[in-house]
Amino acid sequence: METKNTNGMRRFTIPFAAEKILSLLNGAGYEAFLVGGCVRDLLRGVTPNDYDMTTSATPDEMRRVFADCRTIETGIRHGTLTVLMDGAPYEITTYRVDGAYADNRHPTEVRFTANLREDAARRDFTVNAMAYHPALGVQDFFGGQDDLAARRLRAVGDPRGRFEEDALRILRALRFASTLGYSIEKETADAAREKAPLLKNISAERVREELTKLLLGENAAAILTDFADILATVLPKWQRYTLADEKSILTTLAAWLAVSPAQPVARYTVFFSLLPPAEAQAEIDGLRFDHRTRDRVVKLLSHLNAPCGKTADTARPFLAGLGGQDALLLLDLRIAACRARGADSTEEEATKAAVAALLAEEGECSSVADLAVGGRDLLALGLAAGKPLGLALRALLAAVVAGETKNEKQALLAYVKKHILTANSKGDKE
Ligand code: ATP
Ligand code: MG
Repeated sequence: METKNTNGMRRFTIPFAAEKILSLLNGAGYEAFLVGGCVRDLLRGVTPNDYDMTTSATPDEMRRVFADCRTIETGIRHGTLTVLMDGAPYEITTYRVDGAYADNRHPTEVRFTANLREDAARRDFTVNAMAYHPALGVQDFFGGQDDLAARRLRAVGDPRGRFEEDALRILRALRFASTLGYSIEKETADAAREKAPLLKNISAERVREELTKLLLGENAAAILTDFADILATVLPKWQRYTLADEKSILTTLAAWLAVSPAQPVARYTVFFSLLPPAEAQAEIDGLRFDHRTRDRVVKLLSHLNAPCGKTADTARPFLAGLGGQDALLLLDLRIAACRARGADSTEEEATKAAVAALLAEEGECSSVADLAVGGRDLLALGLAAGKPLGLALRALLAAVVAGETKNEKQALLAYVKKHILTANSKGDKE
């Protein structure tokens, strides 16, 4: 919430814990401000995700000020102390100037300073470079408030130099343009294009983190279309979408993304559906997802057009391939695809309702872990540990998926006795 005090200064409601931290630092004789994304969000009228702070106190001085608080020191080398206040973590960083940069990403040294303006100057975009103190108001050295009002991202200082120092900022520009729905000011956009080849020096993990946030943004579709050339520097297979005659396909993707669930796996599935499977796989591997996310995206992609009926028997193979959660997600994506085309989605919605009902009725069973029996139950029946046990569990899963037995303990044990133990003992005699 925003109010104005008697001299017209803007005042925002911030957590009491953040106020306490600022007062503790001020009381010990140091400057301290909220800074970065939280100030941007307060000015936008959006509740910040977190409240980062910046201070003239050095790391040692901060340690002394917060000697009685629980703190975490993982970032201390870069001047960041995390203080736990009222149960929540707050990152406080000493005013900092980044020295020369190596490898287009990492400053070779950081220098602490007593000057807030210098700290603001190292930050990426003007809207991210503002500070705020309840008694002193907004500190804006680089026109952040004007850019915020114009809904525009502008690099602090010379954009070419800033992107050369740290090429990740190029992707951050695209990410913020997507999440905030802002434009990228021309000089900054031109510099981003010019310096985009430097993105090859950025690790896959950092690229992926930014890409994920970009895809979740409200303006993702427009950014993917307008900056396909920049994306192609990190996703080489995307190159084809920089060609004018391929751009219309991007418009289709854009429409689909815009109505898809705002959830990483869903967004990545839509995004990669535009590439031929082998190329999508190459890009997915290149981004080094965690195994679970990678497997889910790959599975969803391979099932994009797989048939899914409305009856238990016809839906089961689809459910078995995807698992209940992702089956419903994929059906949501199909509904979204219809909406994006302006087509009727009644059929897809009916399928989703049927699958949801089936899942509610039968319970989900898409992996061995979902079975109502465990390895121990089967060992108790006399099955041998190791390979026979693994095979038996997989056979049970297949039987449940095929509708041959219910996923209930007694039914499964009976199935094992009838079909698996007898088969094994026959095998012994042969
Ligand atoms: P979000 O709401 O998504 O967390 P944020 O603005 O807080 O957005 P962070 O990545 O958390 O973004 O970074 C916090 C602040 O640190 C930024 O607002 C910016 O001032 C500064 N910053 C972060 N990364 C960079 C960078 N690569 N170059 C320059 N400044 C950066
Ligand atoms: Mg943040």
